Amino acid sequence: RAFNFSAGPSAIPEEVLREAAAEMLDYKGSGMSVMEMSHRSQAYQAIIDDAEATLRRIMAIPDNYRVLFMQGGATLQFAAVPMNLMRGRHAGYLVSGNWSKKAWLEACKYGQADVLASSEDTSFDRVPTLASPVDQGLDYVYLCQNETVYGTMYHDLPDTGGVPLVADLSSMFLSCPVDVSRYGLIFAGVQKNAGPAGNTIVIVRDDLLGDVPALGDVVPTYMGYRLQASKGSMYNTPNTWGIYLCGKVFHWIEESGGLVAMRERNWKKVNRLYDYLDQSALFSPLAQGPSRSIANVTFRAPSPELDAAFVAGAAERNIVGIKGHRVLGGLRASCYNAVPAKAIDALLAYMADFESTRAD
Ligand code: PLP
Repeated sequence: RAFNFSAGPSAIPEEVLREAAAEMLDYKGSGMSVMEMSHRSQAYQAIIDDAEATLRRIMAIPDNYRVLFMQGGATLQFAAVPMNLMRGRHAGYLVSGNWSKKAWLEACKYGQADVLASSEDTSFDRVPTLASPVDQGLDYVYLCQNETVYGTMYHDLPDTGGVPLVADLSSMFLSCPVDVSRYGLIFAGVQKNAGPAGNTIVIVRDDLLGDVPALGDVVPTYMGYRLQASKGSMYNTPNTWGIYLCGKVFHWIEESGGLVAMRERNWKKVNRLYDYLDQSALFSPLAQGPSRSIANVTFRAPSPELDAAFVAGAAERNIVGIKGHRVLGGLRASCYNAVPAKAIDALLAYMADFESTRAD
């Protein structure tokens, strides 16, 4: 298999893929694949129940939070969040890069969305922090905790007073423990650490689910969090196959030592890359030290031509997915849970070889 550093969709644990392949034609004596099974069947209800229960265990999700499996990607949540939560039509956004900027622009369609802090002036090379106390009249404060494109991360959450914190965790979801009780709402596209693309997990505190969404009856029925919660994420046909695979990934995480073990493994992996970049005479890291991501390591060679040569040479060594996002350019190695340490060995060896050839 390739050394896959893709930002998402990305590597899925090999054990999970093998298990799913073994069950492909006949899931536990049902005579069919999970793909072919009614979502209203007992067998499928057991699958989604088990996926939720396993996620609750590995994340230690408190009982007063609902877990939703939704579709439309993390992008649909950029709209679903204000539609459901902007009751006073006023929210605050921390803009740390590509994804929170998109979320902020989306929220501006539905109410007043203030930028509370931004790091755009330094090309998003760090996470911006709050300079003053949060206005307690805001409906929520929003941030993207791990910025996939720029390779930055909030290691500490801002103090929002009593205002609910809404966080896009997509590219750090399940890569380390988080204290769910610190958030009003978490959402994450699963295609980085939790399964195949097509599901978005929303974890929302009960008290934020009003009787109707903040924007009322104009909100598409599907997007109402309360309704989705009351229907167990099955108001309509869910992404059955994706939820099944997510459940398997959750078990794999649990059996691999849980989120504490994931955190240790992931920091070990990315710190080896950061250490190399910090002493390299050729490559430059793009994120400032204190803001560096647990998952997405962004860097560049001295020219776009050298970046391209690096990507081309990597393919010859079976190293894929290291081209930077089109918004930023450069290079990026996304080191999610399923990226093994030997992939980092391969990348580091290649970086050293590439650098020594260029130095000649
Ligand atoms: N938020 C973050 C942090 C992301 O990394 C991405 C995609 O990579 C998105 C949102 C958008 O996700 P989706 O493509 O599932 O809509």
